[in-house]
Amino acid sequence: MTPEQRHRCMSRIRSKNTKPEMIVRRWLWKQGYRYRLNVKQLPGRPDIVLTKYSTVIFVNGCFWHAHEDCDKYRAPLSNSDFWTAKFKRNRERDERNYHILHKMGWHVLVVWECQLAEKNRRDTLLALSRRLSEIFLDSHHVKRYSNIDDNEVSMAAEP
Ligand SMILES: [Zn+2]
Repeated sequence: MTPEQRHRCMSRIRSKNTKPEMIVRRWLWKQGYRYRLNVKQLPGRPDIVLTKYSTVIFVNGCFWHAHEDCDKYRAPLSNSDFWTAKFKRNRERDERNYHILHKMGWHVLVVWECQLAEKNRRDTLLALSRRLSEIFLDSHHVKRYSNIDDNEVSMAAEP
């Protein structure tokens, strides 16, 4: 490979297997979830697609996706008009894609890079699993225990 080819190849690998995304993928895989990656046919090319759960997951870098009120996202000081406009476009594009996916019947989950920092990681991943369980139960019309009140439970003994 020429240096130019190698560079292009490396940057492609980086953008596809960024670390935060790998954390989420490894977790889901270990929990028994099976998924597809970077499905091109869907708006915004979601990072992870769980067909069985009608769910797409975006693992967003805080900088490029302009995570609001986040320490990891700071518009660069030089050339700030350019960056402000660019981040605004990125954010609008994300919102548009989420909206279209939602209309198509997908649940759209977004995991932010900062939520996967060491100190938050476990909570974030557990919340993700919990959310997927809820989606699964809802889509199969399984009544959750919390929805059953005492009356209903005692009725179970009636003929
Ligand atoms: Zn963030």
